Amino acid sequence: MSYNVEQVRADFPVLTREVNGQPLAYLDSAASAQKPNAVIDAQSELYRHGYAAVHRGIHTLSAEATERMENVRSQVARFIGAASPEEIVFVRGTTEGINLVANSWGMSAVSAGDNIIISTMEHHANIVPWQMLCKRTGAELRVIPLNQDGTLQLERLPGLIDTNTKLLAITQVSNVLGTENPIAEMIKLAHQSGVKVLIDGAQAVMHHPIDVKALDCDFYVFSGHKLYGPTGIGVLYVKEEILQAMPPWEGGGAMIATVSLTEGTTWTAAPWRFEAGTPNTAGIIGLGAAIQYVGEIGLENISEYEQTLMRYALDELAKVPDLTLYGPASRLGVIAFNLGKHHAYDVGSFLDNYGIAVRTGHHCAMPLMDFYGVPAMCRASLAMYNTEEEVDRLVAGLIRIHRLLG
Ligand code: PMP
Repeated sequence: MSYNVEQVRADFPVLTREVNGQPLAYLDSAASAQKPNAVIDAQSELYRHGYAAVHRGIHTLSAEATERMENVRSQVARFIGAASPEEIVFVRGTTEGINLVANSWGMSAVSAGDNIIISTMEHHANIVPWQMLCKRTGAELRVIPLNQDGTLQLERLPGLIDTNTKLLAITQVSNVLGTENPIAEMIKLAHQSGVKVLIDGAQAVMHHPIDVKALDCDFYVFSGHKLYGPTGIGVLYVKEEILQAMPPWEGGGAMIATVSLTEGTTWTAAPWRFEAGTPNTAGIIGLGAAIQYVGEIGLENISEYEQTLMRYALDELAKVPDLTLYGPASRLGVIAFNLGKHHAYDVGSFLDNYGIAVRTGHHCAMPLMDFYGVPAMCRASLAMYNTEEEVDRLVAGLIRIHRLLG
């Protein structure tokens, strides 16, 4: 394999930093990934040379910025295998994308007596919008339970689906356990009963290629900032025939055809109907640069490298006494753990002293913490720029903490 991690690391300026007198080992990319020069430079270049409000301008800079933004829409469509750029809505992130679906599609397709299916491993972003929709409509929220190893009890899904089921909203990869759910199979099963499927791809798109058309999902959502892109920009994919029929969610500029104080308002076409207000142009340009960056390295190469690193990490972590790992043997991107009975915050603080950045807390997955009966976990993420040496430092750090705290 031609993957050169040192070359990749050289593209990410923050990775040369020291933290608490130690070289930074950034193992928190599942929360938010660091940015390569390609992304930083694309945004800076836009602001320096090409910035203007999009859509409403006849002048050159505005037309250029509009064209660049729409080019990224096409680039995103190719990146996830959408049939057309018109199936791509720019949103702030996964959270906003799911809220858009709940408020637009949900409010028109779901009513009292209907039900929506999620799972115990969902991020709050794929729980709370559905709870809110159920409360507003009188629908019921059903939950696919988990096995102790952090996989879904898939055999329970057919029993949860009935003629009133409107949606299955499921994460592709758990942000805590790293479980990759068999979404292709789940989509097929749901579609046999006419149930629409939303996939939360927040923890998937940076780890391997995605093809929404092959998957045949109805909605797919992800955030730019976990894909080495900027914060404040994300993508909602919706199958064209569904998107065309969806009513707008937020009202304002850029989403209308005509506005009259006497005749009312008519909407513009999708996807622009769902992008009220001035968009995050720099975020969109940065997202385009991030997609190009990972595309040049190759998601297949990234995936192969990360899988090797994951196997190494799991082997090495087995040497740490009193370490509880959560999640299945085969996992993507993240390793959640607790050390003895020590609170995750204490372990995370010690690791920070050693220059190692991990996430601690409930990971926006409180139902999952309840399932395992713990208030919090530590989570180390492995991204395209992490190394075996960083894993060694994590393992040595944990052994040292175990010796210090007992
Ligand atoms: N879903 C999953 C699986 C996630 O990991 C995250 C981010 N932690 C989200 C949704 C929410 O993403 P954002 O905060 O970028 O909207």
